[in-house]
Amino acid sequence: MRVKLLSLLVTAALSSVGAQAAGVTDQMIADSAKSTNEVLTWGLGTQGQRYSPLKQINEQSIGRLVPIWSFSFGGEKQRGQESQPLVYNGKMFVTASYSRIYALDVKTGRKLWKYEHRLPDGIMPCCDVINRGAALYGNLVIFATLDAQLVALNQDTGEVVWKEKIDDYNAGYSASAAPLIAGGLLLTGVSGGEFGVVGRVEARDPMTGKMVWSRPTVEGHMGYKWDKDGNKTENGVSGTPGQTWPGDMWKTGGAATWLGGTYNAKTGLAYFGTGNPAPWNSHMRPGDNLFSCSTVAIDIKTGQIVWHYQGTPNDGWDFDGVNEFVTYDEGGKILGGKADRNGFFYVIDAKNGHLENAFPFVKKITWATGIDLKTGRPNFVPESRPGDPTAGDGKKGSTVFNAPSFLGGKNQMPMAYSPETHLFYVPSNEWGMEIWNEPVTYKKGAAYLGSGFTIKTLDDGPIGHLRAVDPKTGKIVWDTPNNAPLWGGVLTTGGNLVFWGTPEGYLQAADAKTGKVVWKFQTGSGVVAPPITWQDKGEQYVAVVSGWGGAVPLWGGDVAKKVNFLEQGGSVWVFKLMK
Ligand code: CA
Repeated sequence: MRVKLLSLLVTAALSSVGAQAAGVTDQMIADSAKSTNEVLTWGLGTQGQRYSPLKQINEQSIGRLVPIWSFSFGGEKQRGQESQPLVYNGKMFVTASYSRIYALDVKTGRKLWKYEHRLPDGIMPCCDVINRGAALYGNLVIFATLDAQLVALNQDTGEVVWKEKIDDYNAGYSASAAPLIAGGLLLTGVSGGEFGVVGRVEARDPMTGKMVWSRPTVEGHMGYKWDKDGNKTENGVSGTPGQTWPGDMWKTGGAATWLGGTYNAKTGLAYFGTGNPAPWNSHMRPGDNLFSCSTVAIDIKTGQIVWHYQGTPNDGWDFDGVNEFVTYDEGGKILGGKADRNGFFYVIDAKNGHLENAFPFVKKITWATGIDLKTGRPNFVPESRPGDPTAGDGKKGSTVFNAPSFLGGKNQMPMAYSPETHLFYVPSNEWGMEIWNEPVTYKKGAAYLGSGFTIKTLDDGPIGHLRAVDPKTGKIVWDTPNNAPLWGGVLTTGGNLVFWGTPEGYLQAADAKTGKVVWKFQTGSGVVAPPITWQDKGEQYVAVVSGWGGAVPLWGGDVAKKVNFLEQGGSVWVFKLMK
């Protein structure tokens, strides 16, 4: 009896060790920014720097960079493809539009398996049926779906291991960001700020999908934690209820965490950006409306907000503050850079949230004259706030022109940071909008804007600008323009290169110090996704997903008309140097 019990215990211990040892470990994720043989996370490391030290492909050799395979996502579902692939154990994992994921042989592009999530009628993604990528943990590959679920699949077989609901898609919740794994937790956000959802960050056990904690990003909502047996207890209210929202407006306050987060192991903090307060009509919610349009830093051990910084208090322009907060070491400090949709670039102490620097990264900003570095608050231009409908006929407030447009100085496309050049490479756009306010009341599952708008070009010149930004001086070091608005992310490498894609279909590379384009390749459809790189057996590879779509063709007004000749697609391309 005693022996039998002991052997049972040993078996249990071994199987639990086995679950940890097989596949992707916490240590591997912690080291992922430097492990060049694979791409284990969105952002090439949890800090999201999108920097690889690889330098076989450089200004001298890049003329020999050629495609070695391409894989089509197939079907009739060729909509925006914003996904960053992952590479591990001989496989590439890549998500696609309509909540699909593929495992491919990374050498040949041969399909190993595919999972197509069964989406119900009535999903409400605001900005195309996109997905931005997956996460790897153990032997699982995990991604979020448009009906607000998380699905974990076996990396080898594509079989579903667990599936968990995030929230009710009928209420406007959806999910499209790549999950973040940090400190053994699966960290995810929610989409749906245009439907009056309640933004939050959730931590789960990545192996089972079971909840560990939940932290709302709207002031007044209760946070929760769960013990190992699934017992749920209160974990403190976010913020001070009633302080920055009038009446019950906080109950449908938005602040969706739709782009996911980054993590710095030295601070132990996860950084999530939050979207617009709901509704868009700012006159209905006087106050700062915390924690909308902010960066929130969450202690992943406790699930508590340690600090927050709000870029656009009482937002009236849909300036979602979701943009990635990318941490880096500089002068003995851990700083974070963020290129906000509102047109300003912020440099913030990643430990305590202190604002170190703030400056424009686009040419035209009309809603504020600058950021007061003492108070951290914007100097608003009152005339640039769309008018209050109740001040006039009650049906429509005064229309204003504002820049940037609500599609932002920068949107979902992630920037890169090079620890060699100490520059951020920011995909930015120059455009404006006409915007006005209307009355609106909350109705579950209905658009909750209270605004109308038309995106406008500023002139006949290029809209897109890939800019090298010096976070210390606030200077634009170089600017490489692009006719169509940039909507894909950036990669920078030890080969002194910056890679990015364009809606016109090119994957291109430039000298990281000058911005001079040294290579480009036509992928056959617009690129709205970030490139990656890795090496295998002494050879460096680059990959990018191609497939035009996303928010611009849907919401771009006059700009959408300008780019309506672009063709849709859906494929992944892989490149290496010709011998
Ligand atoms: Ca929004």
